[in-house]
Amino acid sequence: MRLRLRLLATLALAAPSPPPPLVAQDATVVLRPARVLDGRGGVLTSVDIVVAGGRIERVGPRGAVPAGARLVDLGARTLLPGLIDAHTHPGWYFNRQGRLHTQDDGDSPAQAVLAAAANAYATLIAGFTTIQSVGARSDADLRDWIATQGLPGPRLLTSLEPLTERSGDPDSLRALVRQRKAQGADVIKLFASASIRDGGAQTMTDAQLQAACAEARAQGLRTLVHAHSAAAVRAATLAGCTQIEHGVFVTQDVLDLMAQHGTYFDPQCALVFRNYLDNRARYEGIGNYNEAGFAAMERAIPLAAGALRMALATPGLKVVFGTDAVAGAHGRNAEDLVCRVQQAGESPMHAIIAATSLNAAALGLADRIGAIAPGLDADIIAVDGDPVRDITTLRRVSFVMKGGRIVRDDGAVKP
Ligand SMILES: [Zn+2]
Repeated sequence: MRLRLRLLATLALAAPSPPPPLVAQDATVVLRPARVLDGRGGVLTSVDIVVAGGRIERVGPRGAVPAGARLVDLGARTLLPGLIDAHTHPGWYFNRQGRLHTQDDGDSPAQAVLAAAANAYATLIAGFTTIQSVGARSDADLRDWIATQGLPGPRLLTSLEPLTERSGDPDSLRALVRQRKAQGADVIKLFASASIRDGGAQTMTDAQLQAACAEARAQGLRTLVHAHSAAAVRAATLAGCTQIEHGVFVTQDVLDLMAQHGTYFDPQCALVFRNYLDNRARYEGIGNYNEAGFAAMERAIPLAAGALRMALATPGLKVVFGTDAVAGAHGRNAEDLVCRVQQAGESPMHAIIAATSLNAAALGLADRIGAIAPGLDADIIAVDGDPVRDITTLRRVSFVMKGGRIVRDDGAVKP
């Protein structure tokens, strides 16, 4: 018997086609919430969402539950699309000495991968069903194990290792873009400026940016560009790059330029800075996490909120949602939505659209995720209360479904 099992196992390993997902799909599920935010600005009440085969099959008036289907009554909860974070770093974690993990801290590659898997899970159960990592080489395995091997986590897109001003001349950059594509990158990440801790001035030349962004476009890949100074944002926009990250020092003229070019803008509100400051002892003394670096981040908090306000008031500018979540922030991603509403004056509905349908469009996945609509993947969350009235309800995600599978259900809050 044992021999036979071993033989079967060997045969299974030798099978030429990739294995099916280890976790089977649930049967048809009918979700019945108090209200639905569809991710595109619509609010629906008294509706059922029917989920089958991992997809949203029907959104319509409440009715009889089909034979064999399971009703999940969400009570007073509000249902919305799974949230999307356009800028995360799931591989960043605090090691068992309570310090930021670095290459030479003695942790094994396996320990680092397990930490990244834990971060991915924390992010998923906080309601983020898709994240974009920008980026690390080990992201590819994390992405693939989540997608095909039953590891619980958000759908992951990754740039793999970013490119910088030190990556070489325009020809070398074009070759590196093609290499990233061959390595399986979903997007190309470029550093066009210094870190906020080092002043944020432009680092890549205009020619380097033009080469990398044009080659990526030719290869069918998007480009995400780290840029703080107005000059760096302008250069990346004129180079035809897809999306600008951070932009703490943007000016109205470069925001207008981005709007004209259709460039997505991904500014942060405060989570990334506050997380560094709150965890200062865990970062201090590593690289540019020094006295001057922390002072720069403290100064950035009001500047970032001001940049966001200016961006949101710029006609036609597509302001997406990305947190830059690093060690200490995984699973708290929704804090930046709260910040955008409370500190930058954004309406809750506008912020929710940014984190759902607009982000899906920016990722090139509008036909798969980011809305509650028939045919889309059943990436669905629910929160206790109504986030349109109170954005802080997004801190209280109590139901998460990804691809039709329920990965979290705390039950309805007792009155
Ligand atoms: Zn980042």
